[in-house]
Amino acid sequence: MYAALFGSTLIGTAADTDLRRGDADFRSRNGDVSITSAFPGGRMNRCTQINDDTFAITIAPESDPINDSAWYAFRIESQRKQTIRVLLHYVGGSHRYEPKISRDGETWQSATELISSASNSGQDVEMRIPVDAEPLWIAGQELLSTDEISQWSNQLTRLPYVAKKRIGRSVQGRDVEQLTITQSDDPDYVYLIARQHPPEVTGAIGMVHFVDALASDSEIAQRFRKRFAALVVPTVNPDGVHHGHWRCNANGVDLNRDWSHFTQPETQAVREQLLHCRRSGEDRLCLFVDFHSTYDDVFYIPAPNDRVFPAGFTRQWFAAIQNRFPRYDVAVDDNHNAHRSTSKAWVDRTLGVTAVTYEFGDETDRDTIQRVATGAAEEMMRLLLELPERKSPERKSHEQRSREKGSLLANQQTAPPTPRRQLPSQPRNQNPEIRLVSGVSDGEPAVVR
Ligand SMILES: [Zn+2]
Repeated sequence: MYAALFGSTLIGTAADTDLRRGDADFRSRNGDVSITSAFPGGRMNRCTQINDDTFAITIAPESDPINDSAWYAFRIESQRKQTIRVLLHYVGGSHRYEPKISRDGETWQSATELISSASNSGQDVEMRIPVDAEPLWIAGQELLSTDEISQWSNQLTRLPYVAKKRIGRSVQGRDVEQLTITQSDDPDYVYLIARQHPPEVTGAIGMVHFVDALASDSEIAQRFRKRFAALVVPTVNPDGVHHGHWRCNANGVDLNRDWSHFTQPETQAVREQLLHCRRSGEDRLCLFVDFHSTYDDVFYIPAPNDRVFPAGFTRQWFAAIQNRFPRYDVAVDDNHNAHRSTSKAWVDRTLGVTAVTYEFGDETDRDTIQRVATGAAEEMMRLLLELPERKSPERKSHEQRSREKGSLLANQQTAPPTPRRQLPSQPRNQNPEIRLVSGVSDGEPAVVR
């Protein structure tokens, strides 16, 4: 049925430069209906009127070929109350994200029921949408703009142990920001990043709850901050988020495939920070987590690497999460070799530090994301606190300093080398029901059941 409606003049290809711009403004012939994507995160590449109440919207990616994460976000107003038909046509991709709606652009609800039919290929979807004079946002996920993330991080910086700084600028000059959460002046580090891929909103939501747990006043978080610093880059790709990109930054580069050559300012900025906390002392950087979204909740970890620090951390961490949520299915893909230019692969291989890609499902219930991300953060803190304390030259000098107060003949000998810190073996259940999946690659369907 769609072939008839989408004449060849309406169907562009992603190479059509007109379609690369994500924002468009549309007004119906009689002026009744207006549809726009001219807002941060908006994406509607073209809109045309088919008849009085039917509109064809083209959704196209910023570059081609591209990962099939077809992001759409537009806002409709209608002078009169009516139900309109929107024919969504995807160029270079297919329907992936179930619609979410909002009346204010801030509070959202799922609206799968808007979809009245879809073609087998998923390239064409029909929505029937009740509209009126009050604006109605329709998007693939909740809009989580850089402004909203900034509001959240600004709230956090009111806490005395949270600071924020700019670590670089994006291609288009937007700030790439990093939070530091610590109450130690000689901390070990965990490094967290999110939103390399703009539509992966559930990953960003997971990151927010994870970080909230690290900044909370819980007993474990207070102990954690006395020894560790969490460094957090909530939005690695602010340009892509702003323009409603499906995948890439403003140069059309998939940032999570840029971790070999570091051709982009965003990945360069994060690498510099990671190298800094790695350089500042042996085994200071204890964990790297990169938050993403895919079809189901899953942890991606690099192929087993005996030299990685801290040894055995991921297995213990995932077991702890599974023990904590017995009815939640912790899925792990430990055979994730497909792409060698990801953040996780680089941190694992080059820094020798445990690196995890933490994926939340596109449609995972948001309360579940909050519960599991908070629990995962608490289990991470508990396990890292079980690591033996670092005996770095810096820390040693603190001990020496206090001794030296009483003696001018301070012992100048260097300490014998200490063995690499290892997590103590865990008394708790080592074989919980973690689901191992294989052959899943980032951004592709995780066929796991
Ligand atoms: Zn991703």
